[in-house]
Amino acid sequence: MRRHRHAKIVATVGPASSRPETLKALFLAGVDTFRLNFSHGTQDDHRSVHAAIRALEAEVGRPIAILQDLQGPKIRVGTVQGGRLDVVPGEVLRFVLSGMEGDRRAIPLPHREIFAAVVPGQELLIDDGRVRVRVVGIEAEALEAEVVIGGTIQNRKGVNLPGTMLDLSPLTAKDRADLAFGLDLGVDWVALSFVQKPADLIEARGLVGDRAGIMTKVEKPQALERIEDIVRLSDAVMVARGDLGVEIPHEDVPGRQKELIRACRLAVKPVVVATQMLDSMVAAPTPTRAEASDVATAIYDGADAVMLSAESATGRYPVEAVAMMDRIIRRTEQHKLYRSLIAASEPGEEETPPHAVATATADLAEAVGAAAIVAYTLSGTTAARIARRRPAVPILALTPDLGTSRRLSLLWGTHSLQSAEVDTYEEMVANATAHATREDFARANDLVLITAGIPFAVPGNTNNIRIAQIPQG
Ligand code: PGA
Ligand code: MN
Repeated sequence: MRRHRHAKIVATVGPASSRPETLKALFLAGVDTFRLNFSHGTQDDHRSVHAAIRALEAEVGRPIAILQDLQGPKIRVGTVQGGRLDVVPGEVLRFVLSGMEGDRRAIPLPHREIFAAVVPGQELLIDDGRVRVRVVGIEAEALEAEVVIGGTIQNRKGVNLPGTMLDLSPLTAKDRADLAFGLDLGVDWVALSFVQKPADLIEARGLVGDRAGIMTKVEKPQALERIEDIVRLSDAVMVARGDLGVEIPHEDVPGRQKELIRACRLAVKPVVVATQMLDSMVAAPTPTRAEASDVATAIYDGADAVMLSAESATGRYPVEAVAMMDRIIRRTEQHKLYRSLIAASEPGEEETPPHAVATATADLAEAVGAAAIVAYTLSGTTAARIARRRPAVPILALTPDLGTSRRLSLLWGTHSLQSAEVDTYEEMVANATAHATREDFARANDLVLITAGIPFAVPGNTNNIRIAQIPQG
């Protein structure tokens, strides 16, 4: 079972998609990685979805990645009398640290860090920026703010503080409990929300270790300022355009998306473009033209994966949304300008032997018209280095590590498989050609490129390229 595209699809699971038969329909329509959004649902909900995905994986015989997305330090207002407050430009509101059933002179904002970090002139964006207030006065446990854009403040709506570096760990108490739960279940990727600085990744790594890959959600301007270090310390990145588009102006998001994709490609880290990609499919069976174009743009930018959020979690047309994404990706990758556009965004070479071998493998595969590149990989890095070159030839990643095979289902152009370790060169060739044939990548007489590190079972020593021909019969 192979997919006929390079870029991957991540779909968020929610009430609209958590039944086993729907998960299967989503997989068959094209989902490579399922996202469990821990901002919603109970641990029990996630446990049963996790089990259903693992059962599906066994049924279809393909590794499927499960991404646990932690809520992170999402800031919210508390509750006010009547559940809502209509505010008008020019009026001065007062926010307070604690309290319930507040009013416009005592709107609860139960996050102590804010009062310590915010300074007059900075803005609080409430409910995805629908309401904007500017801080005019600050006390230990209260702040005064003038309404800039009026509207309605409803209970529990989110608050973004784009200009403020908050003294917040990216992992709240809830996140820590959810993380321990997810790691016990055996999730493959953990996504961290509202990462602000490199130290956030070091903190998370201490808890995650190598039990899952860490995906940084870039959704704060503070993260953009330290992006090189943040990418280096992450295993993957999500361009989280929902919150990012609240924290920075709309017109800056497309350029940032391109920058982030390039930075990740340079650093050999998979990158996912997320949020509102086919948003109107939450309620309609077809997307807008602009949404179709947005998915295609991410593909032309060279993203590893594109993501569905509400479309697949709570929308009316989850399977249709995946099928639509699949069609847009395939058609984009077949377009005559696709190769030249992604080649143009290719970062410069890195002059290390593993990179050079990976680049040579990709180039040689194209030069000899190979049917597939077979990459032996323990951690997945060898496959990622080849994928970084974005070859037209599909990559078959063989790994003895089940977790690696699952995590690689996020990686551009890569069909991953768990496969027993090989001990000899002959075995390496025979195993590679057998898998390439069985997985429907190559037929008799086709050429495949095989790359591996010899001696075997030593990580990070990829030093060998072999051109092999698929034997007859
Ligand atoms: P969220 O993250 O859906 O968890 O908010 C994605 C985003 O902000 O784009
Ligand atoms: Mn977000």
